[in-house]
Parts: sequence; C-alpha cells; structure tokens
Amino acid sequence: MADMKIGIVGAAGRMGCALTRAVTEAKGCRVAAASERSGHAALGRDAGSLAGLDSLGVALVADAAALFASCDAVLDFTAPAATLEHARLAAKHGVILVTGTTGLEPADQKKIVAAAKKAAIVQAPNFSVGVNLAMALVEQTARVLDDAFDIEIVEMHHRHKVDAPSGTALGLGRAAAKGRGVALEKMSERGRDGITGARKKGAIGFAALRGGDVVGDHTVIFAGAAERIEITHKAGGREIFARGAVRAALWAKGKKPGLYSMQDVLGFTR
Ligand code: NAD
Repeated sequence: MADMKIGIVGAAGRMGCALTRAVTEAKGCRVAAASERSGHAALGRDAGSLAGLDSLGVALVADAAALFASCDAVLDFTAPAATLEHARLAAKHGVILVTGTTGLEPADQKKIVAAAKKAAIVQAPNFSVGVNLAMALVEQTARVLDDAFDIEIVEMHHRHKVDAPSGTALGLGRAAAKGRGVALEKMSERGRDGITGARKKGAIGFAALRGGDVVGDHTVIFAGAAERIEITHKAGGREIFARGAVRAALWAKGKKPGLYSMQDVLGFTR
C-alpha cells in the first residue's frame, strides 16, 4: 500500500521538527508537505534539514490550503488561531487532522467540534502514548480501590515551569476522580502548608516539585493500610508527543469524520 502522505504545519517549530523526525522514522507514511506562517524566516528551507536530517526534498510553504489539498493527514502543533484555520481546511478537503495545540478557548473548541463533522480530527492535550496509558491505568485502579486508599499525585518539572500542578497532573487527577465516580474539583487538595488538619477522606492530593532540567515526571500513589500502589511516567523528551501524533494519524486512516482522542487511538474507549 502507498505511504500515507503527511503534511506538517508549523514545521520550523520545536514540535514541528520533532514531528518531521517522527514521520521519517515511522513505517507507512512520509512527509509530503510542510508549512510555516507567512513571513517566517524558514520559508523555502527544507523540512528535513531544519529537523537535523538529510534533505527530504520538501520545502516549507506559506500556503496551507495547497498543503491540505496534497496530503492524507496533517499534523498541527502550532497556535490556536492557526489551528482553527487548519481545522477549517481539514473539513473543506476531508483530510485527517491531528492537533496538539493547547490554549484553545471554549469558543475555539466549538469550531473544532464543527469541523469534525466533515473530517476525522484527533485532538489531545498530551499525545504521549505512555501518559495516556498511565491515565487509563489510574482510572482503572481508582475504580477497583475504594477510598480506604488515599490518592496522591506528585509531579516534577524543570525550574522554568511557571504553573502548578502541571496539566498532565490534573489530567491524571481527573482520571482518578472518574474511576472513583467523584468530581475532581470537589475532592482535590492542593498546596498543603502549616497546620492543615488531618487528610480528608477521599481527597485527591497534589504536590509539585521544581528543579533542574526534568522534562516531566508524574507519579500517582494509592496509599492504603500496609500497602501502596504507584503508577509512574517519566518523560525524556518531546519525541514522545511526536511519535504519539504519528500513531494517531496512521490510526485515523479510513475513520469516519468525528472528534477523537488519544484514548480512542489506544483502544481504551471501545
Ligand atoms: P513553537 O513556538 O516552537 O512552534 C509553533 C510553530 O507554529 C512556530 O514555528 C510558528 O511559527 C508556527 N505557526 C504559527 N502560526 C502558524 C500558521 N498560521 N501556519 C503555520 N505555522 C504556524 O511551539 P511548540 O513548543 O512546538 O508547541 C506548539 C504547540 O503544541 C503549543 O500549543 C504547545 O503547547 C503544544 N504542545 C502540545 C503537546 C501535546 O502532546 N498535545 C506537546 C507539546 C507541545
């Protein structure tokens, strides 16, 4: 079967370059086109050489419409305004869109949902296969264990991170709450300091550590009487998101229009 033709938008970005490497390494697909925003210094340069590879013979263009017209799937880790335009083009051309852009407002999200009526769109706040697997395991564990087990979520990131807890830690918290059949907002305990009183039964606690160049470590602890279960994920680099996005594109081939998640890609929602 012919290789899937993949377009990479924002191909000069940090994720764009990681995506070019991931598509090149994967079987069953190839980089067919690449774009950047108009005026970007990398326009006209080769996507492969920008990503530290040999030349792929694919020059970066500013014409996103032409890119969508020539591809089976497009990988988009750019910025909210760009992602909305890419979703519109995906719907117009019936092309698969895999998007990991964060920071979309609820009104933006409505436009993505509308575009997904005409195209298969895979959207996830975290495309790492390992993180999505950890989330499924946390949900399943929380479903089996009752609130005799205290749930604590510990995360560590590099010293430059400005927010806490991380979005992934909150996602793990939501998975735990879902498994236990409670709302995270009602049960979360964050930022303990001083005389806090005893732990609330059923609480889901968060702790954030910051230091060095840690890309992202997350551990969910289920602490019971005389035993403890821990589910840990450690991220080493952004290639984990790129590999997950490529897997999502290959999975979406032949799927009906609709909005899909990484949990769908990994078969946890069947
Ligand atoms: P980046 O700034 O390095 O790259 C973004 C690129 O998109 C830039 O090169 C920019 O010029 C380009 N771009 C902007 N508008 C464009 C347009 N209209 N057409 C084409 N290209 C355009 O940022 P990054 O670190 O690569 O992250 C990009 C996005 O992906 C962010 O929203 C980030 O939070 C998100 N992200 C998501 C995941 C995930 O797993 N879901 C993982 C990593 C990053």
